Amino acid sequence: MDFDVIILGGGVNGTGTARDCAMRGLRVLLLEKADYGVGASGNSSGMIHGGIRYMLSDRHVTALACRDSGYIQRIAPHLLFRIPFLLPFTTRKEGATLRDRAAWYATEVYVGTYDLFQPLKRGKPSTRLTADELYRLEPGLRPGLHGAVTLDEWGIDAFRLCVLNALSARGHGAELRTWTEARAVLAEGGRVRGVRYRDVLTGEEGEARAPVVFNATGAWSPALARRSGAAVPMRPGKGVHLTLDRRYSNYGVILSAVDGRQMFVMPHESESIVGTTDDDYYGDPDDLEATNDEVEYLMEGAASLLPGVRNARITRAWCGLRTTIYAYGPNEDALSREHQLHDGAASGHAGLLSIVGGKLASYRAQAEEATDRILALLGRAPVACRTHEEPLPGGDDVPDAAALARAHPIAAPVAARLVYRHGGRAREILRLVEEDPRLGLVLCRDEGILAAEVVHCVRHEQVRRLQDLRRRCRVAVGGCAGLDCARIAAQLAARELGWTPEQLGAELSDLLDAGWRERRPVLDGAQLVQEELVRGAHAAAGVRW
Ligand SMILES: Cc1cc2nc3c(=O)[nH]c(=O)nc-3n(C[C@H](O)[C@H](O)[C@H](O)COP(=O)(O)OP(=O)(O)OC[C@H]3O[C@@H](n4cnc5c(N)ncnc54)[C@H](O)[C@@H]3O)c2cc1C
Repeated sequence: MDFDVIILGGGVNGTGTARDCAMRGLRVLLLEKADYGVGASGNSSGMIHGGIRYMLSDRHVTALACRDSGYIQRIAPHLLFRIPFLLPFTTRKEGATLRDRAAWYATEVYVGTYDLFQPLKRGKPSTRLTADELYRLEPGLRPGLHGAVTLDEWGIDAFRLCVLNALSARGHGAELRTWTEARAVLAEGGRVRGVRYRDVLTGEEGEARAPVVFNATGAWSPALARRSGAAVPMRPGKGVHLTLDRRYSNYGVILSAVDGRQMFVMPHESESIVGTTDDDYYGDPDDLEATNDEVEYLMEGAASLLPGVRNARITRAWCGLRTTIYAYGPNEDALSREHQLHDGAASGHAGLLSIVGGKLASYRAQAEEATDRILALLGRAPVACRTHEEPLPGGDDVPDAAALARAHPIAAPVAARLVYRHGGRAREILRLVEEDPRLGLVLCRDEGILAAEVVHCVRHEQVRRLQDLRRRCRVAVGGCAGLDCARIAAQLAARELGWTPEQLGAELSDLLDAGWRERRPVLDGAQLVQEELVRGAHAAAGVRW
């Protein structure tokens, strides 16, 4: 056999399991049909939270996620950021009924119970805020609120979390191929024997052999299993987020949508994120796009507590598919967020293990459990897991951003972004600037992208396409749709990867098209005018898409 295990999917479960398997000495191949994190992982809310919502129905999910959140903070301290949430009491103080007061009290008790889990993830205990305190913290809230409780959570750059797990897996000897699709899982005599794959960029086809295949293809799992004669039950749920052009609050705000579902508005980098919807999805996972309806549903909910968001420019609408465990009956919100490892033996595919459900926040624990099962399927003796102890790349010796800015010719916000994305590896990036000061050019002031960062990512982070840089260092993600950064990033990538001018042009069009697909659902009025300006400016520089 070529490998001990073939892992399908480069989301957080695939890359996390590849890392764990490689660290425990297995020969690993990972295939990802596009780039790391393009599925649910990178399109999640990116919260390394405990899931307070699941505390009543799935207490185990909350406990697992909180414990794993603590471990993720230990192995990637640079990549996490604290998000203090406000949970306002929305009924008015004047005329509040006994029932209203009971509801406030119940909320306080509920959040207070969640406090018991907070030490696991270095979270601060909740606080009760009076109306005055609430409005001092967040004056943009609609008037007349009675007060709030606070709730401490953590966010992460989920794309980079996947990349760091992939890089770590590679560092431990795994082979990882992006833009390579598993076409079918091959089985013989009721046992898995490998995978047939195709490199979608070169067209190269081949077969890789292994006695165990770990299927972490998220919402694509059921179709892949069907194509291979196996079955993976799942109830995929579509979730849409909006990005607003600026920070509307320095706090996350928890609020209710028109139908009573819980939603949030939270700060992220220099923007705000509004999320999320949750609707059953029966379509093709490759054909996923937000609709105007979903955009309006989210904006209506956000404006119910933060009326100012109506003045926002929505810069993107992006979506992913939850890989929820199948159940007939409950509505989407009520589905369990537990994870399951589905054994293919029953459908004649012994050695095929598929993961369904689960959370980004507990990905490490899910990967640990999957690796234990993979070792058992291989008939190997147990090997201790170390993924909670060994830092992810850049997670050790994280430099102080302010000190870095003083020691190098870069602005403090740029240094902060660099350290946030790369941790200890920021030093290597700044060495590139020392060698060639032209690489100290800031490509995007919003995102603080350095030319040297682009070069570093292309050289060391498995970049095959220009659009991979959206996920590595946010090239062309910001409000200006790549006007400042896209062309220079393309030239830097072309020089590193030896692209012809035709390839460079095609890659640039593809990058800009990826951004266009996220802006299309939010175009109206002034935003349409903005889009025309962006197109015009790109066209004037000879780029069309
Ligand atoms: C809207 C939304 C919000 C969420 N918010 C949170 C949150 O805040 N916190 C939290 O803890 N969890 C959250 N989740 C859940 C979390 O994102 C998922 O549990 C997790 O990301 C699933 O990871 P995965 O690796 O299993 O799947 P995915 O990330 O979907 O990865 C599957 C990968 O498989 C690849 N693939 C598909 N077919 C093939 C093939 N044939 N060959 C090779 N590769 C293939 C895809 O390209 C994809 O990259 C959210 C999910 C959604 C959708």
